[in-house]
Amino acid sequence: MPKLNQEKFNYEASPFWSGLRCRCPQCGKGKLFKSYLKLAPSCTNCGLDMSSAEDADGPAAFGTLFVGLLVAFSALVVEVKFSPPTWVHLSMWIPLAIFGTLGILQPLKGVFVAIQLSHEAIEGTQDNE
Ligand SMILES: [Zn+2]
Repeated sequence: MPKLNQEKFNYEASPFWSGLRCRCPQCGKGKLFKSYLKLAPSCTNCGLDMSSAEDADGPAAFGTLFVGLLVAFSALVVEVKFSPPTWVHLSMWIPLAIFGTLGILQPLKGVFVAIQLSHEAIEGTQDNE
């Protein structure tokens, strides 16, 4: 399968925006995922090999921290301004934290993988001569 081709690389489709839209970082058109969080083995449009992409826990960690900070700050503001009962806090913030994290996870993983692929960052290998 073809690796990233710098001559074919579409700089109009930046890795950040391509990843955010869950599209291939090379052509900006092919799909990055074959399911919710499972990467496609290659781009359906340009054939870019995406099998080397590995993002580990980065998107989950950053997504959880970002949504957690947003929810905690919002809960603090609501508590100070309105002082609602505890059940209101629980029924608002727990679903928002869960669905917010799930909603941000795929675009965040797309950004991580697209930037990794565009920089051809792969796992280190040892060359024994
Ligand atoms: Zn592509």
